[in-house]
Amino acid sequence: MKYVSLKGEKLDVSINNYYEYLSPNYVFIPYHAPRSVSKKNLDKIYKEELLLEGTYNYYSNISGYIRGFKDFNNYLNVNEKYIVIENDYKEKYLNKKNINKDYLNTKKIDLINKLKEYKSFYTAKILDFLETHEIIDNIIVIGFDDDLYNYANRYYLEKDITKIFDAISLLTNVLDLNQSYLLIKDNNSKLINNIVDFEGSYPNIKVNYLPDIYPLSCKAILKNYTKTYYKINSLVINLEELLIIYDIIYRNKYHTEKVISITDLVNKKVSFCYTKTYVLIASIIKDFPDNAICYINNPLNSNVIDINTTVLTPDVNAIIIDKKLNYIENPCINCGKCEEVCPLKLKDLTSSPECIKCNLCSYMCPSNINLLENKNE
Ligand code: SF4
Ligand code: SF4
Repeated sequence: MKYVSLKGEKLDVSINNYYEYLSPNYVFIPYHAPRSVSKKNLDKIYKEELLLEGTYNYYSNISGYIRGFKDFNNYLNVNEKYIVIENDYKEKYLNKKNINKDYLNTKKIDLINKLKEYKSFYTAKILDFLETHEIIDNIIVIGFDDDLYNYANRYYLEKDITKIFDAISLLTNVLDLNQSYLLIKDNNSKLINNIVDFEGSYPNIKVNYLPDIYPLSCKAILKNYTKTYYKINSLVINLEELLIIYDIIYRNKYHTEKVISITDLVNKKVSFCYTKTYVLIASIIKDFPDNAICYINNPLNSNVIDINTTVLTPDVNAIIIDKKLNYIENPCINCGKCEEVCPLKLKDLTSSPECIKCNLCSYMCPSNINLLENKNE
């Protein structure tokens, strides 16, 4: 089977195009009822203090004061209520936890207990895996950026390569495993040279260089390239999840910031912003060209969002700014291209329950038909 590489526009990507947004005036924590709120309006709240308790917990990522509710969208354009916290710019903790000096003796059960205490939506999948798998064969870390114009993983690999190898090695020991795998795409020689130097120093980590195809992170496709070690008991995590786990084990710290790649296709510029989560998308974009539009994470299958009313939740990894394009949809010419490129070879395409909504079928369609959009309608 032949898979497709996304061409996109060739852009100069340098991790030095970097800035920070760590002192927002306000943050907006999503409130999904029913959930118990530990604070009232005007109450003081500390950094990393529990604000919402429920199936998943939400913690404040700044210290400040509660200022009621406001309606905003998430990046899927779903309108929700958010609790407003006004920053006091003191970054004060109620109980600042110290570094875990005994982190090397952490066991699987300790990690499970820490994740249960954290109870975050973003680590729930890992907790569930650890609790339901007594035997784990290995850890597979997805180190590549899969979606078009996404570069956050590249940033982590260029900037934090030592931390990444330390984190994989630590997690490998915590889970008492012999071997773990870091997966990289083979399309960036600078990155590969950077990584090769580390490989020998970590005998329990093997780096696997994979072809640049889309969507490689889809389990069914990834398995074709990792057959010898991708097992039913493999813990598969991405780089960000790895770093969250590392901070929980080593620093007793919850993630309240993250790196976002911002690709501006109008000015042909890629930058990286280290930002607090739960801020408005508009506040981290330095320059938003007139008549531009904005996508989140994957321009192939995401909606256009309003940057002024959309909150940057922890699952936002990339912001893509593009010209407003007026694609003219033409009638289907029955060329069969959509079926040919579907990575899962689905007969019913987007109507199939197995469709992963990668939207590669529409990307390749010569008539500009958005098969996913038509399906949603
Ligand atoms: S790729 Fe587009 S034009 Fe070709 S068959 Fe599919 S929908 Fe029709
Ligand atoms: S049918 Fe679904 S899985 Fe196949 S290319 Fe289209 S969106 Fe992707």
